[in-house]
Amino acid sequence: MMSINFGKGRDNRFFSTPKSLPLLDIKTLVNQNASVLIVAPHPDDETLGCGGAIALLRQLNLPVSIVVVSDGTKSHPNSLAYPPPALKKLREQESLAALAILGVAPEAVTFLGMPDGAVNLASASAKAIAFCQQYLQNTTPSIIFLPWRKDPHPDHRASWQLFAVATENLTNPPRLIEYPIWDWDIKQRQDFSESVTAWRLDISSVLKLKQQAIAQYRSQISDLISDDPAGFRLSAEMLQNFTQPWEIYLE
Ligand SMILES: [Zn+2]
Repeated sequence: MMSINFGKGRDNRFFSTPKSLPLLDIKTLVNQNASVLIVAPHPDDETLGCGGAIALLRQLNLPVSIVVVSDGTKSHPNSLAYPPPALKKLREQESLAALAILGVAPEAVTFLGMPDGAVNLASASAKAIAFCQQYLQNTTPSIIFLPWRKDPHPDHRASWQLFAVATENLTNPPRLIEYPIWDWDIKQRQDFSESVTAWRLDISSVLKLKQQAIAQYRSQISDLISDDPAGFRLSAEMLQNFTQPWEIYLE
């Protein structure tokens, strides 16, 4: 595969000049027997990071399943209108609506419901790892899209770790492809301390679908939850990174 290896200790300049990366077609990534799992640390990461890939894979009629690791309840911690149980439910509904637009049925979506902001292997315990191992044995994905292992957000790193551990002893190890989210924010961006191969996936034919899917996450992009001044909101600047006609992936 054509790609650029940025090498150990090199900077991650591709976030400032992403167009220098090779642009791949979805058909170079998968064959007709592929089955794909997308791991999302929070409800919305799958759509922001991989929404184009999901839509393209579903258009090829390939099975795509989704695991959402955390419950997303830390986005508006002070809202009285949406206390944690209501917020959890809202964010699940938003995920299912977004994924339906991308061609994924609710049956293919699993919510692990781990505590938002506190996903880590220590607290996840053997139970979460065992669940993921069992899930992988049942679904046997040939490709897993994971959050980038060095993402500035700890839940993203922990979600990578959870599945990295769970895939360790599989008889048919899947291909692991990682997607960046918070490295797009220049204030949070980390220096890459390891060798990565980066490329772009051409999603121009499904960009409109991806935009419609992102729009389902009203709790994250609008004033839907208006009673928490400390509430989270994806900035227009951040959103712009996820509505390009391509998505960046790292291996
Ligand atoms: Zn996230």
